[in-house]
Amino acid sequence: MAPDANTAIMPTGLPNDLLRPDLLRLNASPAGKEEAIREAAQLLIAAGCIDSAYAASMLRREAVANTFLGHGVAIPHGMVEDRGLVRRSGIAVLQVPGGIEWNPGQTAHLVVAIAAQSDAHIAVLRRLTRLMQDEARLTALFTVTDPTALAATLSEDAPVTAPTTPGGDLAERFDWVVDYPTGLHARPATAWVETARASTARIQVRHGDLVADAKALVALLQLGLRAGDSVVVSAEGEDAVAALARMKATITRLTAREKADAAAAAQKSRATVRGWTPPNPLPAVPGIAASPGLAIGPVHVLPRAAVSVPDEPVPLIEGGDRLHEALSLTRQNLKALADDTARRLGPSEAAIFTAQAEILNDTDLVTLACQLMVEGHGVAWSWHRAVERTAAGLAALDNPVLAARAADLRDVGQRVLARIDPALRTGGAPDLPDTPCILIAEDLSPSDTAALDMARVIGLATAQGGPTSHTAILARTLGLPAMVAGGAALMELANGTPAILDGQTGRLHLSPAEADTADARAWIAREDARKAEEEARRGLPARTRDGHEVEIGANVNRPDQVAVALSQGAESVGLMRTEFLFLERGDAPGEDEQYETYRDMLTALEGRPLIVRALDIGGDKQVPHLQLPHEENPFLGVRGARLLLRKPELLETQLRALYRAAKDGGALSIMFPMITALGEVQALRAACDRIRAELDAPAVPLGIMVEVPAAAIQADVLAGHVDFFSIGTNDLTQYALAIDRQHPELAAEADSLHPAVLRLIRLTVEGAERHGRWVGVCGGIAGDPFGAALLTGLGVRELSMTPRDIPAVKDRLRGSELSALRQAAQRALDCETADAVRALDGGEA
Ligand code: PEP
Ligand code: MG
Repeated sequence: MAPDANTAIMPTGLPNDLLRPDLLRLNASPAGKEEAIREAAQLLIAAGCIDSAYAASMLRREAVANTFLGHGVAIPHGMVEDRGLVRRSGIAVLQVPGGIEWNPGQTAHLVVAIAAQSDAHIAVLRRLTRLMQDEARLTALFTVTDPTALAATLSEDAPVTAPTTPGGDLAERFDWVVDYPTGLHARPATAWVETARASTARIQVRHGDLVADAKALVALLQLGLRAGDSVVVSAEGEDAVAALARMKATITRLTAREKADAAAAAQKSRATVRGWTPPNPLPAVPGIAASPGLAIGPVHVLPRAAVSVPDEPVPLIEGGDRLHEALSLTRQNLKALADDTARRLGPSEAAIFTAQAEILNDTDLVTLACQLMVEGHGVAWSWHRAVERTAAGLAALDNPVLAARAADLRDVGQRVLARIDPALRTGGAPDLPDTPCILIAEDLSPSDTAALDMARVIGLATAQGGPTSHTAILARTLGLPAMVAGGAALMELANGTPAILDGQTGRLHLSPAEADTADARAWIAREDARKAEEEARRGLPARTRDGHEVEIGANVNRPDQVAVALSQGAESVGLMRTEFLFLERGDAPGEDEQYETYRDMLTALEGRPLIVRALDIGGDKQVPHLQLPHEENPFLGVRGARLLLRKPELLETQLRALYRAAKDGGALSIMFPMITALGEVQALRAACDRIRAELDAPAVPLGIMVEVPAAAIQADVLAGHVDFFSIGTNDLTQYALAIDRQHPELAAEADSLHPAVLRLIRLTVEGAERHGRWVGVCGGIAGDPFGAALLTGLGVRELSMTPRDIPAVKDRLRGSELSALRQAAQRALDCETADAVRALDGGEA
């Protein structure tokens, strides 16, 4: 433990000579961040604290680290390696009443420039971070006109208050009653935070006595808002009125989606089979249903994994660097996971990771960690403590939605911890008995769940967690019956206690009699038969009533995802997005590793076709470790094929790995993304021919993605040089309608069934037909049953989609006549608007 700064350093007045009057400048108005840093550095130079070269070092630091501490305070400081330029420790404070933008959406009013030789400055930082929890005192410093008052406040110890404090409302306000059926959970809260952050006004949300900063996700979640709760949203500052109007629009716009999601979830749970009822009442531990199915077996209680994080203090600046780096690496990784999940499963599922990434931006959480570091604790210890404290706060609110968020928070916290110090990586396979068991745990992280030995675990029950936690979702994907939030009683069970876990009703029945077990076994047998029937139906081809067959593929990126795709009825993999092999990790996989992945994909597919798309890096898929130059308009820049042609080492490595896999057998095709011009196709084909010859590998079909209007319009030209086309409607829509595919406000207008996009698809099919080539679609609209029907009518022969969309698309096509689909497609091409096309839904079968 560090000595208590209160007693060890000074009781009142200026702390040593760190914060001297000549180091304070009130009422400054620098033109921008750089000028503010230079001005503060000038104070330190004049006071003899630093060499003049240290100012440049402070500016360099801004390029690599975020020195905004939160709540209007920034703490610029120099690079670690330039510490020699510090002559003696000192702190300069620049007060900027009008504020300056430190980073987009972050305004600094106090610029606290640090020149630190040792850790003598920690006392002031500690006070600063404490002050951050006393908003009123801190904001008063932004405009105070008496320098001694400023210095005195920074020298005293401010009392620590709870993260959310009783308080009044700000100048402008509106009232709202929560009408989200599942309360304010992370996904809508993230949207609130994004809207709030887009404005400079101070915005808060009050529920009863509790007040949360609308720009802080965890604080909002800690309000624990449930449906029916009344809140007051208020704002003050320059654009308060407009900011509140935007907040209101966001809050109310989300209502429809939240209700629809809740209704869909309810319908899903009604549609899925009901749980098992024991013939005789049994003692049971109730929890929350997380993944359906029955498991019969002894329980095995996993002792609480005590993560022991040693407290190893390091100089504050170094600690800050390590935390910053760990946070940004984790953010990158989560972004990649979110992208991949969005493409494979859809935006709702991807929101898990977006929300986890948003947790990392939470100033309160990061500030709490910084505070602990400032108090003299080690970086890993401080981070772990901050996460634990915040998670415990969420879990204590007795709200299942928030319990799930606590599990997510701990999981994301663990990711960061492992980045700070790889030795703190937890997880891996727990010690399990040889006989299959129902695993009981306090909580399991998604990574622990993924690592479970499925031969030895037949069910999962956790004391904590929530049904929307990623762990629960993973259990459903693994087909593992699971319940969550069973409470402390679960952990008290004796190892080996016989039990029946019902993942549908969320109950763990204990000590069943023979008759109960027999009844449960019969229930499982009936369920298995029902599932087999369902799978058999999914396995039928997508053949229209008049005998026209469309190939149905899955969009999957990894060999371990193939089995799920096949069980959903996939006949091939129509799109393997290989950039995710690069995005989900911190370095680029080499040729051997790529070869093994492609070979494993082909093996898992057992002779079924596999279309591997060459790297589509750029646009929204940035790979930081490739260190590509920053682009103003990445969607219109060096992306996909353009990048491959400029980076032969990337292209060659991938093609060599692919042709080596082709030599091992299987039905491989290679496809190139973002093709715009014939020259690109010719150059890529030449590279393929050369590498194939070098490796003496078999020829494989070579295709291109049609994602750019130019490629669709010139399809008749391009078709003469490729074996097939696959239309990427996500990008084709973005480029045809000039709508950024990630734009939150325009998303609803970016409809792939817009007649303009349909006409481009038609042109592509016509161009391909001239050369006898086939056309597939692997963009999102292929997985929409009505979209699939229209695409079939337009002449598309293969549809590749997210695995879980397959059964509905197959059902729709099997219930249709090709002639009717053709007519519907023609009508759609003649429509004037996307809405008119959508209105045709239902009339084509
Ligand atoms: C598309 O653009 O439709 C597509 C399938 O590619 P991605 O989503 O990976 O850009
Ligand atoms: Mg694309």
